[in-house]
Amino acid sequence: MHDNSLKEPLRGLILNIQHFCTHDGPGIRTTVFLKGCSLRCKWCSNPESIHLKPELAHNAGKCIGEKQCGFCLKNVCPESAIYVVGSGDRPDDKVRINWDLCTNCGKCIPACPTNALYLFGEEMSVDQVLDEVEQDSAFYRESGGGMTVSGGECQLQPDFLAALLAGAHERGINTAIETASNVPWDFMEKVLAHVDIVLHDIKLTDPERHKKWCGVDNTRIRANLKRAYETFPDKKFIARTPLIPGVNDDEEHIRATLAFLKPHKNVTDYELLPYHRFGEGKYEFLGAIYEMQDFTSPDPETLKRLRAIIDEAFGRNG
Ligand code: SF4
Ligand code: SF4
Repeated sequence: MHDNSLKEPLRGLILNIQHFCTHDGPGIRTTVFLKGCSLRCKWCSNPESIHLKPELAHNAGKCIGEKQCGFCLKNVCPESAIYVVGSGDRPDDKVRINWDLCTNCGKCIPACPTNALYLFGEEMSVDQVLDEVEQDSAFYRESGGGMTVSGGECQLQPDFLAALLAGAHERGINTAIETASNVPWDFMEKVLAHVDIVLHDIKLTDPERHKKWCGVDNTRIRANLKRAYETFPDKKFIARTPLIPGVNDDEEHIRATLAFLKPHKNVTDYELLPYHRFGEGKYEFLGAIYEMQDFTSPDPETLKRLRAIIDEAFGRNG
């Protein structure tokens, strides 16, 4: 007889579990962020979610420097990736990380008394995640909420995600995912069977512009979405565009998106999410460069005008 108890439990790479979220689907929700993404959108506000591996971060604002501390410099790094510029008598003697040498092993983290060094990404089992999510179940019942799994691109860990969603259903928890849908169709087929609500991006409709801003063109995304609408007629799909002035805040994009969505009755809404620069600081913690310095949030008039087009398409005017 096959002994299931000997099987290793499925583990996923989790970035964060956020409680009491109100913008990731209906009601009060717990959002589980999985690490790893298959796009490289220049405006990404979660750069710590991009790579499908744990990553070291260094918050220089919390580092008290070599003279007062310097514990991380005392042979804790096997790669000699931690250094200071000049001596401990300099006014700025905070440590720096040589990101080309760092292997994200995390060995320096216990040495840091101020939590200036920390790791993004932790392996967790399905039950570990669900035990934490289930703590909020009274709020789900009251508000019509549930669990939303986001990223990164949550569908890049399809087996773990499918097991997590199925496990949530077994515990009576409503499920949603946030996805850009740039994954093999097999992944989506496996995952969507266990999802109640699919919140999916349509960042740009033009393939060339999509490639320029997100790193890949949108051919696979569009094919996947169309197939998903048709294969899962009972699932609810909500499309969303992160609206960025000068990138996609034009009527042409909104109307082209509506033309793509509207033939499908299970696409119940299309939302515009105004661009913000909340994630900018995290680029520095990871030794990365933020390329959207000159971009601003969309102005309220543009937002209102574009939302009116969507409302009209969904029959919500008057
Ligand atoms: S994570 Fe590892 S390799 Fe990177 S700085 Fe810390 S100890 Fe060195
Ligand atoms: S251990 Fe932490 S606080 Fe101390 S020097 Fe290193 S990074 Fe800065």
